[in-house]
Amino acid sequence: MDYETYMDIFPRTISWNPWHGCRKVSRGCLNCYMFEGDKRRGIPGSNVVTKSKTQFDLPIQKDRSGKYRLRDNLVLTSMTSDFFIEEADEWRDETWKMMSKRKDLTFEILTKRPHRIMDCLPDDWGDGYPNVRLSVSAEDQEAWDERVPILLTIPAVKRDVYVAPIIGPVDTSDILPRGGIDAIYVGGEYCSEGARHCDFEWVCAIREECVRNNVTFIWRNTGKYLLKNGEMFCIDSISEQGKLAASIDMDYIVEPLLPPRRTFQSRLF
Ligand code: SF4
Repeated sequence: MDYETYMDIFPRTISWNPWHGCRKVSRGCLNCYMFEGDKRRGIPGSNVVTKSKTQFDLPIQKDRSGKYRLRDNLVLTSMTSDFFIEEADEWRDETWKMMSKRKDLTFEILTKRPHRIMDCLPDDWGDGYPNVRLSVSAEDQEAWDERVPILLTIPAVKRDVYVAPIIGPVDTSDILPRGGIDAIYVGGEYCSEGARHCDFEWVCAIREECVRNNVTFIWRNTGKYLLKNGEMFCIDSISEQGKLAASIDMDYIVEPLLPPRRTFQSRLF
């Protein structure tokens, strides 16, 4: 990714975690960073889903001057849980209303439970809210084969796939030529203990298919262990993992993920 694109997207990206806690569902969950973070901070009960007291209404929170705190942001939704987890069914409708109200923000909803999406959409979803991107994570071929076809059956203005943490080769050539996927993000596993390596060849193969089919490709981070040209590199710092991936300049942007930057600066950044 060139520096200008990096500076346009990532400083404007923010996580919104309306609820916290989750249950592991697949190999990609093995080293879930939410479980790891809770353990490091001594917070028990990561597998109990609770509504956030401070973040639930983040998109409509205002500052002292009465302006929304979030402005001009890409809002990654439910990064410390799963947006479609059953325990959150009673709270989700309210979050849809907030997304509908804040059409100026771009929301990215990521899930490992795409089989629940259709039953959890709001009544006025139609062909999809214009400011909501639906995405699944697919850490390996098995997850890709299971989740991506389901995502394609769901009406949405934009659909993305997070191949993260990538733990094996993923053949995307069966699905990308059919259309319907707008962007693929690849990331390695960055947990502190037991991280599985990212093979540069796997990343290149996915990129090649994205370019061939004109699908946005972004390599978000190398993960802690990167295998490249037969050599295993260990990159401890998470920020360095992101910078290293960006510096290799692999990204292929078909269209910007956010509207052009406005002239004002968000107070959060
Ligand atoms: S679905 Fe996501 S948040 Fe839930 S356990 Fe798996 S990786 Fe963690």
